[in-house]
Amino acid sequence: MQNLVNGLHHMTAIAGDPQKNVDFYAGILGLRFIKKTVNFDAPDVYHLYYGDGSGTPGSILTFFPYGNISRGRKGTGETSVTSFSVPSNALGFWMERLKKFQVVFKAPQKRFDEEFICFEDHDGLGLELVANDHDQRKGWITGGISAQYAIKGFFNVTLSEHGYERTAGLLTKHMEHRLVGEKGSLLRFEAGAGGPGTYIDIRCEPDMARAWQGSGSVHHIAFSTDNDESQAVIRQNLLRAGFNPTPVKDRQYFHSIYFKEPGGVLFEVATNNPGFAVDEPANALGSSLKLPEWHEPRRKQLEQVLQPLHLPEVV
Ligand code: ZN
Repeated sequence: MQNLVNGLHHMTAIAGDPQKNVDFYAGILGLRFIKKTVNFDAPDVYHLYYGDGSGTPGSILTFFPYGNISRGRKGTGETSVTSFSVPSNALGFWMERLKKFQVVFKAPQKRFDEEFICFEDHDGLGLELVANDHDQRKGWITGGISAQYAIKGFFNVTLSEHGYERTAGLLTKHMEHRLVGEKGSLLRFEAGAGGPGTYIDIRCEPDMARAWQGSGSVHHIAFSTDNDESQAVIRQNLLRAGFNPTPVKDRQYFHSIYFKEPGGVLFEVATNNPGFAVDEPANALGSSLKLPEWHEPRRKQLEQVLQPLHLPEVV
């Protein structure tokens, strides 16, 4: 039987300054800037997308950079860490690179079978680079970061939860995930073909207060499904299980449904189609401001409100 859920699709976080965001993710981490558009529900704010060369599901990190807003508070009921997959020999390179750009990181640690380093972006978003040799995906190769070191996409995401049972039940009973690791208060699940890009970890932290969203918080995480048909089946399954998914929303590059998981994290299920080349050529992704047709009439006004952005040179 074909999978309904393939693994991770994208992560969307809240940021402060949009130019600092571009400088960090396209410049320091070397992800491809794949789309410059607006928050469809609040179009005077950018929606910035980063990923591998084509924005393959499982590599897509997106931000709503609200400018001058207060920071989020870390806690339960949120995605606490976003982890990228890098080749097993790459951590030394990345530690040097982070040092060069004055990004503070912790010395390598081990979790399950992998070594990783953790750090935060300038807004306080929790990030990791996880070294492993079982990821065949190609990262985006750009100046200063060669194929042997480049980020390949997500490795996993970590949810911080007050309790784990109901979230684990949702993942395994209604979203085709399998429990593949357990250590202390940490559980690891995978979906679809398994491996990097399909892992989701739950960290049980009953003594922690609830998170508040602000800059440096993950807004939601999205799971990948092939198409509208498979999404409709998942939606029916969720409805039957007592969850309350939204109607399908047209996000231009994918179609989405959203619902809150029992621990409070906003989940989305997004289709792999139509992808990011739907409104600009694949070799020009991210080069101009793209608006969905229903916001096109406001282009002039939006271009005045949105601050101009420039892509950093990756050195
Ligand atoms: Zn989303």
